[in-house]
Amino acid sequence: VEQLAPRLRRVRPSPTAAISDQVRALSAAGVDVINLGEGELDFDTPAHIKQAGIDAIVQGDTKYTAVPGTAALKKAIIAKFSRENGVGYAPGEVIAGSGAKQLIFNALLATVSQGDQVIIPAPYWVSYPDMVALAEGEARIVPCAESHGWKLRPAGLAAAITPQTRWLILNSPNNPTGAVYSRAELKALAGVLLDHPHVLIMADDIYEHICHAAGEFATLAQVEPRLKDRVLTVNGVSKGYSMTGWRLGYAGGPAWLIAAMQILQSQSTSNPSSISQAATVAALEQGLEFMDEWMAILAGRRAKIMACVDAIDGLDAAEPPGAFYVFANCAGMIGKTTPAGATIASDSDFAAYLLDAAHVATLQGSAFGASPYLRIAYAIDDRRLDEACQRITRACRALR
Ligand code: PLP
Repeated sequence: VEQLAPRLRRVRPSPTAAISDQVRALSAAGVDVINLGEGELDFDTPAHIKQAGIDAIVQGDTKYTAVPGTAALKKAIIAKFSRENGVGYAPGEVIAGSGAKQLIFNALLATVSQGDQVIIPAPYWVSYPDMVALAEGEARIVPCAESHGWKLRPAGLAAAITPQTRWLILNSPNNPTGAVYSRAELKALAGVLLDHPHVLIMADDIYEHICHAAGEFATLAQVEPRLKDRVLTVNGVSKGYSMTGWRLGYAGGPAWLIAAMQILQSQSTSNPSSISQAATVAALEQGLEFMDEWMAILAGRRAKIMACVDAIDGLDAAEPPGAFYVFANCAGMIGKTTPAGATIASDSDFAAYLLDAAHVATLQGSAFGASPYLRIAYAIDDRRLDEACQRITRACRALR
């Protein structure tokens, strides 16, 4: 379409949103689809958080607020970073937005322009490269090996840095692999970054609380305080508090960057929902008592899906320490023939086959920059997960 701006030609629609649309359409047509494609927990938002949202509505907290968030929310965010991460931020160094996604986008749009490079370790969250493209920068994808736990190593980082590098994006626990960087691994990467003062670092910590390895989570600004004024620490309530629909994320970083993100936000979306802000104050201030129970449930589900993957010839995965995804190698499926006579030539074909034949939605690794793999999101009801495992097993057995 000639009316489209050139920058739109550089981006694809989010593949995760596309699969969700496909599932909704199939479900509407009466097909019993099991969705293992969605990046969200099935748990209800905890009752005390919902109540804080309801109270905000009843009290009339339903008007514009300060663009970067209310004073109460900023206070809660600052206290969270200090208490949970040992990182101190001033009020001018934090901002709340409509999801971590918006904050990441605004940070990139505020700093990246033509000729700038952004280092993105692969596998990566689907939106990073497209956000960089929208900002007219260049994504520098650095493949990370499955045999290295899917983690960026210092040598790989050093080799990818150029004078044009603007950002490194780190995501731990990782979507789609569930990889978690240890303190020592972050410290080793910091050693490289200290030598390159022109590089900013985005720490996407959105899965911080979904970590099976107790005490393993760490974040860069905490591990290497000398990098703190170059790090944007991004977090939010979507994953840790099962609040994806509330659209509330927050970030801490150098005041100049936060101010720039605030300008962008003030001229685009303004403050995140006042109701979500009030609920997030309750979330951040009232503790994570529910989390042990959630993690126990998730561990049970992870065991189910791991047992399923292990038992299928042609699928292979190591147990992921964080997030709620299994990123399974499906090389053994490539070249097989479906009962309908089609050849599985790629991980996209395999995911399409599972949707078509088993009515189970997953996502192909190519969407995350690694093939041939399959991302299986397992944060669904146990009974449905059992059913999904049976369906996947049956469909895989039918391949020749
Ligand atoms: N970062 C990663 C790695 C994610 O997987 C997601 C959501 O899927 C986000 C950021 C965005 O989270 P939010 O719902 O806060 O926008």
